[in-house]
Amino acid sequence: MKHGLLWIARALGLFALCSWLTRRELRILCYHGIWDGPGHYGNYLFMSPGKFRSRLAFLQDWGARVLPLPVALERLAQGRLPARAVVITIDDGWASTVAHMVPALEQAGFPATLYVTSYYAHNQRPVLNVALAYALSRWAAGERDSTLLPLPGLGQLNCPAGDAIALHRATDQVIEHASTLADDDARQAFLCSVISATGLAQDPVWGGPAFRLASRDQLREASAKGIDLQLHTHRHRTTCNGTSCLAQELADNRSWLTGVGEGPFEHFCYPSGQYQASDWEVLRRQGIESATTTEIGLCRRGENPYALPRILDGESLSELELEAELSGFLTMLRRISRR
Ligand SMILES: [Zn+2]
Repeated sequence: MKHGLLWIARALGLFALCSWLTRRELRILCYHGIWDGPGHYGNYLFMSPGKFRSRLAFLQDWGARVLPLPVALERLAQGRLPARAVVITIDDGWASTVAHMVPALEQAGFPATLYVTSYYAHNQRPVLNVALAYALSRWAAGERDSTLLPLPGLGQLNCPAGDAIALHRATDQVIEHASTLADDDARQAFLCSVISATGLAQDPVWGGPAFRLASRDQLREASAKGIDLQLHTHRHRTTCNGTSCLAQELADNRSWLTGVGEGPFEHFCYPSGQYQASDWEVLRRQGIESATTTEIGLCRRGENPYALPRILDGESLSELELEAELSGFLTMLRRISRR
């Protein structure tokens, strides 16, 4: 249904019209990571290496003018943005990003900003919440006799096959429990016990880099290839025990990135896209120039620099849907419906 309507809108020239109407607006694309092994880990924003390469080819065919983030923001503010101006941003800094996305970007000659969260990049252990979510989703998808999963410290988790809500609830419960454990050693030991309880100990995915962020050396290499490393907090959070820890997180993140990326580190992406207006004063005091969100849309001149919308791309987004976003057609529809 949606595809049919988009196809008709495109055939009627509405994509081209919206592209012209929004020609002075900026398109900031948001990517996350790559999965290239068996199964599917990460969220819906992850994609296969082939899909990412085809996206870059599509951007070239579409006539995108891919600019570095600071240049694009400066030209947006001055009203000097070329038509079809695009910025490529990638969140988190997964090992798979450096292995697959960076060479593809280099080959295409496209600049990109990589927002690095540094805690797991530093300790080089599996990112706990993503690894736990993967283990539970594989267990829920597998054939088994019981819907109950016994886990240390949590008793029996009920997760019937095909029940997405129960899976979501169980995953939240497991991640929440892990966060209460004393330290990182305890949390990693808990992950091992979950892997064992879900019967996934033989899954080859655990031996690879799937759940790891790129190391300091890998990120340094990416930076040397022209990837702009920027801020995403140290521990992928802006609050701790209900109060803001954004200033400390930014300071830790910036300190870790110093000597890894070129700097200056003055562009930021909210972890999980979550922010509040009170964050803006903290960002201003920390000398941050821009902050991107996971709200969807194009950036207009005069947009709040600390609440920049993006276009979220992922495996399930078709080329037609991406074009509908890039052209500004869907942004225009949202603006009309808001009125
Ligand atoms: Zn993130």
